[in-house]
Amino acid sequence: MKTKILFLILTFAWFISLSACTSPVENDVSDNSRIITVSVLPEKYFVERIGGEHVQVNVMVGPGESPHSYEPKAKQMAALSNSALYFAIGVEFEDAWMERITSANPGLRVVDLSQDISKLPSSDADHNEDMDPHIWTSPEMGKTIARKIGFVLIELDPQHADDYQANLAVLLRDIEQLQAEITNSISQMDTHQFMVFHPGWGYFANEFGLEQIPIEIGGSEPSASELAHLIDTAKNDNIRVIFAQPELSTQSADFIASEIGGRVILISPLAEDWLENLRLVSQTFADAL
Ligand code: ZN
Repeated sequence: MKTKILFLILTFAWFISLSACTSPVENDVSDNSRIITVSVLPEKYFVERIGGEHVQVNVMVGPGESPHSYEPKAKQMAALSNSALYFAIGVEFEDAWMERITSANPGLRVVDLSQDISKLPSSDADHNEDMDPHIWTSPEMGKTIARKIGFVLIELDPQHADDYQANLAVLLRDIEQLQAEITNSISQMDTHQFMVFHPGWGYFANEFGLEQIPIEIGGSEPSASELAHLIDTAKNDNIRVIFAQPELSTQSADFIASEIGGRVILISPLAEDWLENLRLVSQTFADAL
């Protein structure tokens, strides 16, 4: 009798341990996590840091592509039907495509992360309504974006509110640390001006008291006379480094750099590791300026 009971207990324990082993697989995050679509790679960073294991992120504008001229692929348009949410950020391709995206997916909730942010005028006037769309290059704006994402994820999935809150708190702490580091590295710079092909750093410049001199005029390469003027400016202001972006042309930047005996350094506002990229860019500024 005793052995029979022992056998039953052991069998029962074996079943329990078996189900304990299989339950994490049944609850695998990839099955239950929500698919969230974003426009640009830095948004992916924010949503993943806050959403953690509860989200899967789809990006429209992939590495090497520009959100100013981007056109979604048919496959990406079709994949939107699996998305629970779309975080827009106010880049040009959204204006051209969002109507098509929402009419094809009437259930898709679209949240514009740039909505509560007061935008700066675009320094080269090529962007819609002359406003600069690159809000995410400022860590302070990054905090606003992070809080909004946290708020919306909690609304969408209140069951995991504690996780979202905790992840958001850690991210906000990291951003504050980054701001202190950038303030420190920028205080060591000799000049506060920098020349860049595509003016993607307006919000960064604004936050840290820098002046961005764009090479691009109205979203295109400068004319010969505009180039000559830029070369004069660079010489007068003792500019030695011209910044350009890997996603875009470096032709004008190369030309100006050769005329002033300087060099071109590539920086991108679109890198996926948003935090590390801003740290790297500020160190690059500090070393080069
Ligand atoms: Zn841009």
